[in-house]
Amino acid sequence: MTKASSELAAWQARGGNHVWLPYAQMATMQVPPHMALRTQGSQIILEDGRVMIDGVASWWTACHGYNHPHIIKAMQAQLEVMPHIMFGGLNHEPALKLATRLAAMTPGDLARVFFVDSGSVAVEVALKMAVQYWLNKGVKGRSRFISFYHGYHGDTTACMALCDPDEGMHAHFKGYLPENTIAHIPRSEDDFAAFDKLLEKEAPRVAALIIEPLVQGAGGMKFHDIQTLRRIHALCAKHTILFIADEIMTGFGRLGHMFACQEAAITPDIMCLGKALTGGTMSLAAAIARPFIFDAFLHGVPLMHGPTYMANPLACVAANASIDLFESAPRLQEVAQIEQQLRVGLEACRKGKGVIDVRVKGAIGVVEMASLDEAQRTALKAAFAARGAWVRPFHNIIYLMPAFTISKEELKALIDVVVDVLLNASPILSAGNR
Ligand SMILES: *Cc1c(COP(=O)(O)O)cnc(C)c1O
Repeated sequence: MTKASSELAAWQARGGNHVWLPYAQMATMQVPPHMALRTQGSQIILEDGRVMIDGVASWWTACHGYNHPHIIKAMQAQLEVMPHIMFGGLNHEPALKLATRLAAMTPGDLARVFFVDSGSVAVEVALKMAVQYWLNKGVKGRSRFISFYHGYHGDTTACMALCDPDEGMHAHFKGYLPENTIAHIPRSEDDFAAFDKLLEKEAPRVAALIIEPLVQGAGGMKFHDIQTLRRIHALCAKHTILFIADEIMTGFGRLGHMFACQEAAITPDIMCLGKALTGGTMSLAAAIARPFIFDAFLHGVPLMHGPTYMANPLACVAANASIDLFESAPRLQEVAQIEQQLRVGLEACRKGKGVIDVRVKGAIGVVEMASLDEAQRTALKAAFAARGAWVRPFHNIIYLMPAFTISKEELKALIDVVVDVLLNASPILSAGNR
């Protein structure tokens, strides 16, 4: 063992007692987490020298792959000049430029960009904008939200209360979470009639509806079509309910268009962006409002929100560099190619035991199982990792969401691993409790 690697092992042993990992039962976590040493393209290089192909682009952020030289160079230059400055009473070129570009590239007349430091906070700010919009208009009592089963909008308290009731652990936190109306995405004409009635009934106490357009992500990777999204949007307009599009996962090309709302040709009243905004380098997110929302704040109480690190210049520079790449590189064509390769490649999973659906949209490939328990998910993760694929099942879902720059060969390797493990997974899938 080299000195460097023995040092790493020592930190893993010591530090492992001091970090608290997300979404993990630390008592029963059988395999200690892998220690990442560095990243490159679609590769994660582990401390023991093993290389894994990242099938999930670092929680859906690293759309240009890791360590893209254009982003790194821009960040290095900014680092020398001004890594951070408060945004209260001051602004700076990276943020002004980014806001201008986001306003130009997002749908319709979305124009006012409120920068925050994470996706959950972008959703929190969107909710505050919506509630206060009505108050500023002199309308009282509109402080609830409509969201959807299988939705996911973040982990902070108000966001949890919008998530799928199981995902958001509504029962667990009952009494602490604000109460909202959780609806099913309408699919049939009967559903739409009932949904129309629901909106009519709820409108007097609802500030806004929030939805992940076209693909619901972390709440179950459920898809709905453009027509469905357009009709939900139109019903909000009919009942004067504000429409918030949470594009934190779908934004920046993931579904094949720059934004899902563009594919459906709708303009949300508020749009939330995050995740891939900085190409997976820094935490930055935004809530973007149409002028009529912003204008309602021009008298009386302003929007009382201001994260300490909002509009961090280093993050804004990274986001600008990421947008440069969307402008100069064929990212959306790459997504179309990934879509094609996922469609063809994952088809074989249908033969797998317990597989109930295989679906693909843009650079998202989903294999839905009848069920997976914690032990099975853990065993699957280990089987994927042992074959060099960083793939992380959740609930009953196994999915691939790679970087758009992933090579054909790397994506083939990921698909082969998923297919191979699923078709030969009987030991894993019968090892669990069900
Ligand atoms: C990830 C995600 C969030 C939360 O973003 P964080 O940066 O993790 O707080 C919110 N909404 C959607 C749709 C997401 O995918």
